[in-house]
Amino acid sequence: MGEEKVEKCMICGKPSKTTICRACEDKIRGEAVEKKIRREKAGRIDKEKK
Ligand SMILES: [Zn+2]
Repeated sequence: MGEEKVEKCMICGKPSKTTICRACEDKIRGEAVEKKIRREKAGRIDKEKK
């Protein structure tokens, strides 16, 4: 059993202490915020149909 677990960023695959490295975390967060803003701007059409 490989006890030596090398943590890697699950997004870019680069060695990272966390599951998602800082750069990717930043990117994901930015995209999430963008999506949220876009959704709110788009109105509530989406909300009814889920
Ligand atoms: Zn990354």
